Amino acid sequence: MHDIVVIGAGPAGMTAAIYARRAAKTVLVLEAVTPGGQIINTPDIENYPVEAHISGFDFSNRLHEQAKGLGAEFALEKAVEIRDEGDQKVVVTTKGEHAARAVILATGSENRKLGLPDEARLTGRGISYCATCDGNFYRNKVVAVVGGGNTALEDALFLADIAQRVYLIHRRDSFRGEETTVARLKARDNVEFVYNANVTGLVAEKRLKAIEVTDKLDGSVRTIELNGLFVAVGRVPENQNFASVVKLDESGYVVAGEDCHTSAEGIFVAGDNRTKALRQLVTAAADGAMAATEAVRYVNEH
Ligand code: NAP
Repeated sequence: MHDIVVIGAGPAGMTAAIYARRAAKTVLVLEAVTPGGQIINTPDIENYPVEAHISGFDFSNRLHEQAKGLGAEFALEKAVEIRDEGDQKVVVTTKGEHAARAVILATGSENRKLGLPDEARLTGRGISYCATCDGNFYRNKVVAVVGGGNTALEDALFLADIAQRVYLIHRRDSFRGEETTVARLKARDNVEFVYNANVTGLVAEKRLKAIEVTDKLDGSVRTIELNGLFVAVGRVPENQNFASVVKLDESGYVVAGEDCHTSAEGIFVAGDNRTKALRQLVTAAADGAMAATEAVRYVNEH
């Protein structure tokens, strides 16, 4: 029996592990893929206090080392269910079961898809959801990025250094992401902005060859020939496996306030998978601290 099982080894989950270990609780962190979470794909983090520049990969590794150094255990197992047995919670994974007195859900989110026919088949054949992972395959080639948030803007900037030409396609005429990044992109002569437009078709043989882009204002359709399409249209929370034990909102986020309490006693939530106004590295870490503190209090009182 662990005091606390944390589901998800992103910045929120690993920060929770640090706080729980510093309160002398036993902690097991479960991770389906690799420790780090989505930040691992960010080439350069510029908005985390103290470090002016650090790659997401280095950030994740250092956080992982810090949590392990304090005695947190890690296991590569995907959690598929929680059985809430009152004072004991059982986390069921693809490899077995782990009993805990409290659980912290820090599962983060996964890439939202465009929902186009053939999108899945062409993933890895011209369609990518990660510019830092796949950008180098498109050296001196033509690519498009779709989306208007910070991820799309940063992906476009990263690709502008590699590719011959970058189209940035957004469904509105103003961006959700930061103005400073928009200004940097506008200064690049190999970046073309395509506003008020949706990608409505994929043209492919074995690989993606072109995309069809529909102008939302006049309905005209433009075909853009390219080698790669980077989809950066946001993320969806990974809470489906826990919908029967904690309350989710209509978008699938775990309903919780700043205290990170869920609708189930002894189950807490931290990071991008909870209802909140600002999903950033620093707020994920803050959630980790809060959720762990509340989980420790719960364990001490039960
Ligand atoms: P996001 O901020 O939610 O932006 C998603 C973008 O995709 C929006 O511009 C949205 O358009 C568009 N979109 C959504 N569904 C679409 C669809 N079906 N077709 C076309 N476009 C669609 O997501 P994100 O960029 O992945 O960022 C997630 C969070 O991480 C944000 O809080 C972001 O600030 C943060 N982040 C921060 C950094 C950083 O601070 N360095 C880096 C990366 C991400 P609308 O604008 O019209 O809704």
